[in-house]
Amino acid sequence: MSAGEPTAALPHDAAMLQRARDAVAEIPTGLLIDGGWRPAERPAIAVDDPATGQRIAEVAAAGAAEVDLAVAAAARAMREGPWPRMGGTERGRLIARLADLVERDAERMALIESLDTGGPVGVLRAFDVPMAIAAARENASWANKITGEVPMVEAGAGAFAFATREPVGVAAIITPWNAPLLMALKKTAAALAAGCTVVLKPAELAPLSALWLGRLVEEVGFPPGTVNIVVGEGAVAGQALIDHPGVRMVSFTGSTAVGRGIVAASARSNLKRFVLELGGKSPVLVFADADLDKAAASVAREIVFKSGQYCGAGTRLFVEAPVFEDFVRAVAGQLAGFRIGAGLGAGAEFGALISDRQRARVVRLVEEAVAAGAEPALAGGALFGPGYFHGPVVLTGAGRGMGVFDMEVFGPVLCARPFDPATPLQALAAEANDTDYGLSAKIWTRDASRILRLARLVEAGNVLVNGGGGEKALPFGGFKLSGFGRENGREGINAFTEIKTVRIGL
Ligand code: NAP
Ligand code: MG
Repeated sequence: MSAGEPTAALPHDAAMLQRARDAVAEIPTGLLIDGGWRPAERPAIAVDDPATGQRIAEVAAAGAAEVDLAVAAAARAMREGPWPRMGGTERGRLIARLADLVERDAERMALIESLDTGGPVGVLRAFDVPMAIAAARENASWANKITGEVPMVEAGAGAFAFATREPVGVAAIITPWNAPLLMALKKTAAALAAGCTVVLKPAELAPLSALWLGRLVEEVGFPPGTVNIVVGEGAVAGQALIDHPGVRMVSFTGSTAVGRGIVAASARSNLKRFVLELGGKSPVLVFADADLDKAAASVAREIVFKSGQYCGAGTRLFVEAPVFEDFVRAVAGQLAGFRIGAGLGAGAEFGALISDRQRARVVRLVEEAVAAGAEPALAGGALFGPGYFHGPVVLTGAGRGMGVFDMEVFGPVLCARPFDPATPLQALAAEANDTDYGLSAKIWTRDASRILRLARLVEAGNVLVNGGGGEKALPFGGFKLSGFGRENGREGINAFTEIKTVRIGL
């Protein structure tokens, strides 16, 4: 590994860094509760630039008492406010207005998020910000399409009955640091579309875009208490939210460990509902008949997308043996060619990891695997110097029992294994499924029968064949430890509702 060598990371562009710092200086740093910003009693949270380790902001950190205030404001808005009583079309209009304001501030959002997360500003401009806007518009469009059921049979029996959906109540939204704006905006838009009120807790490591979103929430003019935003530590503010009896629903994206904590907190408190998106360890199955150039480029891009801090990344690669060596060489070659650097510049294709702690975890998992016999086909490592940079790694010979193969690494690390062309699809799927996770599975082949059979056999919430990403109108979520429930589309909106059946004797 190359730890200790001088950093090859490109620096920020000075003018762009200044523009980002100016944008950060305008961000409100308090807690948005009941339509106003307030300070917090706990010590402020320091926010760092992952590319330099330098402090870029200090923001208020909510304690349990302030979480109480936020939940009380959201509960009051639910009970007495206009939001749940407003027509769906009007709710949709206001959510779409929020999306419009994010679009107006798209460049500002990209700069803020780049500085806060370390991601290349070009990637944020091209993916995260437009995806967040599109997801918010998609969810806004559901606000007047939430429907129930009216069975015909009951009318003949002298009764009329129907089932309708109602907003579940106060929704707590807890988001991670890898796609902070996208997660905060799409979840908030879904909850609001269903008629819920919201308490949003962004990740302390990257809270800035959510705070600017708070400014835009004010500008839209949502009724007070409809959207509350409390930055805070997970163990304090997050825990207070998931334990809170006033919270009826938690929408969470992050680690399986915290996901388990949410299930336990629900059981201990009020059986609050939850949707959990908990990451993955997704298999990629590559057959010799596939467009191998396209497949190699796609596999490589996914490993450096968000520097590997991407829940859907295909990190366990299975390649048909006759093309294995060439394919791994092609992927490693692509990965070695990507430029690593600070986010605010023209050149970098992937950036720093979110924190020194996250990088240390990646280094440890790779070192343990190599000590246990895995062989690096590409041996990137921690880059020396300021910032939390880590070069891409490709390992062959890693397998079950090694942390790097079993756990979500959340760094630019790929494990590759060959499979015998004679392997029955059932056995191949069993190998792909031999993981605790089940978020995504990727298949590369031109054989239609194989596609359809494998798509059924893999245990994954999302199966992507021959490339492509998610579909925002279709459900997204995982099997097994990858989560519970689904986001996006009708399923995603319905997750924020309760069903009520009404029977009327005639
Ligand atoms: P994490 O702890 O699950 O953080 C996600 C969110 O949960 C953050 O807002 C966090 O708050 C909050 N949180 C933490 N403890 C909580 C608690 N007891 N109650 C309620 N909320 C709580 O994830 P992480 O530690 O940052 O990352 C660890 C690993 O999780 C990564 O290496 C990766 O494998 C996985 N991960 C997955 C995704 C994904 O997209 N599925 C995203 C992020 C991480 P604070 O951050 O403010 O403490
Ligand atoms: Mg940060």
